[in-house]
Amino acid sequence: MNGGGPDWDCEAYGPEAAAAGALCFVSGALHKRVCDDPADCRQTMIRSRQRLFGRISELAAHGDSPYAADYAYLAEVFGTPDQLLGGPGHADPEAGE
Ligand SMILES: [Zn+2]
Repeated sequence: MNGGGPDWDCEAYGPEAAAAGALCFVSGALHKRVCDDPADCRQTMIRSRQRLFGRISELAAHGDSPYAADYAYLAEVFGTPDQLLGGPGHADPEAGE
């Protein structure tokens, strides 16, 4: 494959994005990983989802924010942290659910 190093698809990006160089959501840069292994990557993504979900819920609760309604919408669409960032609970529109 590519000059050594661990090789797995980041949960947030999936295989297609990985082929384009999006290896790690956490690194924030293409062709670069910050996680040591898939388990580490998964744990990091779980924490990232929870943090993001918490942030969305927090902003949705702030009625004075001009975007509160948008955040409330997101909080409703993504019912659980697992549905964010390619998580195990994310709805695949192709799955015809
Ligand atoms: Zn990663």
